[in-house]
Amino acid sequence: MKNYQAPENHLKDRVILVTGASDGIGKAIAIAYAKAGATVILHGRDIERLEKLYDEIVGQGYPQPAMLPFDLNTTDEQEYRNLASVIANDLGRLDGIVHNAGVLEELTPIEHTSIKSWNKIMQVNLNSVFALTKACLPLLKEAPSASIITTSSGVGRQGRAFWGAYSTSKFAIEGFTQVLADELEGTNIRANCVNPGATLTKMRAIAFPAEDKSLLKTPEDIVPVYLYLMGDDSAEINGQSISAQG
Ligand code: NAP
Repeated sequence: MKNYQAPENHLKDRVILVTGASDGIGKAIAIAYAKAGATVILHGRDIERLEKLYDEIVGQGYPQPAMLPFDLNTTDEQEYRNLASVIANDLGRLDGIVHNAGVLEELTPIEHTSIKSWNKIMQVNLNSVFALTKACLPLLKEAPSASIITTSSGVGRQGRAFWGAYSTSKFAIEGFTQVLADELEGTNIRANCVNPGATLTKMRAIAFPAEDKSLLKTPEDIVPVYLYLMGDDSAEINGQSISAQG
């Protein structure tokens, strides 16, 4: 899967939402999906970076993307419904979501973690994934074949000291994806979870500032798994937890 080579126009005419597309792994996924023919909905908070990515995609001659600035650190269910309505009204369909946006915050013992920081990580990494999925399911049900990809981590499979809320949120995402996939079994929608593994991004640099960055995979290196899970070649794959680096 990590060496998957997508056929040309693999995602032609599909509309795919990538959260956290303004940077890191999400940005690489968005570009790869656009290159494969998809209309990508670029989500993030930083409008300047979203606009830069928009220009890059259009400049390459790929399908014109859409921009969706939205702060996932919100608990208002209506805001998620509105977001799905914007997609329905402006683009008319939705074939997939990559729930990629995430926050780490500081690495610290549970004893010293503030409730505010805990709640923020849980909201962005877990609760917003539930809220956005719930809001978008009616649209996804109308697609010929839809794929939901969530994002885990090595510490979502084995807990590690000081990774507190982040680790807990990733364990929960693994569980959420299994529950969702079981509910969707036999439908047109599948849901799978990806652990990107150590990847050269801002988040990784914050967690491991002193490591040798030349040893890390780049976001572009791990894109094949995301291409595979979004396209028809993975139509039978549901409820799996997959490591992007094998
Ligand atoms: P990154 O470079 O820090 O990018 C994070 C993205 O999430 C940005 O686009 C950011 O958008 C968005 N985001 C953060 N908070 C948000 C909020 N409140 N509302 C909306 N968007 C928000 O991180 P990354 O390394 O690419 O990580 C991507 C995913 O992979 C995360 O889920 C992470 O947990 C997971 N992961 C990464 C690694 C790794 O080694 N890099 C390993 C395992 C798992 P704005 O800046 O525009 O707000």
